Amino acid sequence: MPLPQFERKNPLDQVKRIVAVASGKGGVGKSTMAVNLALGLKEFGLKVGVLDADVYGPSLFQMLPEERAGKEEEGYLIPGISNGIKVVSLGFFDTHSHANLVRAPIANGVIENFIHKVWWGELDYLIIDFPPGTGDVQLSLLQQAVISGAVVVTTPSQLSVIDVRKSIEMFHVMNVPVLGVVENMSYVEGEERVYPFGKDGGEVLAKEFELPLIGRVPITPAVNHCSDAGKNLFATFPDDPAAMALRSIVHQVNLLMIQQEKEAFSPKSYQIVDGGLDLVWPDGSQNFFDGQSLEYNCPCAQCDLLRLEGRRQVAQARLVGVDPIGRYGVKFTFDGGCSKGMYTWALLRNGGGQSGGRGGE
Ligand code: ADP
Repeated sequence: MPLPQFERKNPLDQVKRIVAVASGKGGVGKSTMAVNLALGLKEFGLKVGVLDADVYGPSLFQMLPEERAGKEEEGYLIPGISNGIKVVSLGFFDTHSHANLVRAPIANGVIENFIHKVWWGELDYLIIDFPPGTGDVQLSLLQQAVISGAVVVTTPSQLSVIDVRKSIEMFHVMNVPVLGVVENMSYVEGEERVYPFGKDGGEVLAKEFELPLIGRVPITPAVNHCSDAGKNLFATFPDDPAAMALRSIVHQVNLLMIQQEKEAFSPKSYQIVDGGLDLVWPDGSQNFFDGQSLEYNCPCAQCDLLRLEGRRQVAQARLVGVDPIGRYGVKFTFDGGCSKGMYTWALLRNGGGQSGGRGGE
């Protein structure tokens, strides 16, 4: 299948949370973590998608073989389905040679397509398998998608820890909350526990950055078998020690995400004042958005497209209603213009995408 070319739109409107799974180095089990995080969240009954953004070494297509192939529809790429999860990986496309993608401008183009031109529909979680490292492609991803939280994966080895440190710093600089550290390939269980890559690398890192150590995953043949054979680890080997560790990690990540949303992104209070929105954040800071500027910056796909094309009209809109959506955002009703957009608290915290009107003060 050739890589489709699409029109510009923003289809992430209905995606509640985007979690980046990142590492400093390749080969530490980042994709394994991304896949099992997705499978585990699906087990909780949540709607999950996975984007394999590791353009330098896409592997999700092997770990999550499609039961239903992706397709192009009305200018969007509709993800494939594997184990009830929506999946998009460069590996699904016949790009002739992945080696071509190593050049950053091409990789950036692919990332842009992935972020703006895949129609995920409604999702509780979109898991992004980040490319390892901290270069242009990673920055491009961070600039284009509003990442709700990052999970960093390391092995206990010193070399892996050094590189993961850079990843955590990159997320900090880009204001992406790091949910915690997962240590993979921590030990081999036996009569006596063996630590082939050393001990406590993850714990040292977590302490250094005051992050939770979300869990430690042992090395087991079941993990490797399931990756290679494209099988669901939780369903195939439910009692495997790595499966049990991963299940607990999935649970922790979900809890950390919920806590993160509560602490960082929900305002302490909000009210309609003079046709606009008055917000007070937990740290005491305040924002006021007038109705016209909120309406102009409506994040629905249609308004987004009109803005991108420079055809968005400024309506004389006053805010007349606010309806919370879960803990992460709101829908607004205006007395004119468009009331379809879903505004995340994160978006409003970052200034509401303000342009064409008075924004935060
Ligand atoms: P990355 O995405 O960091 O490059 P992968 O997730 O592709 O790493 O993992 C690299 C290899 O290590 C894969 O073959 C995978 O099956 C294997 N692997 C990862 N974690 C474990 C584990 N805990 N036990 C056994 N094999 C593992």
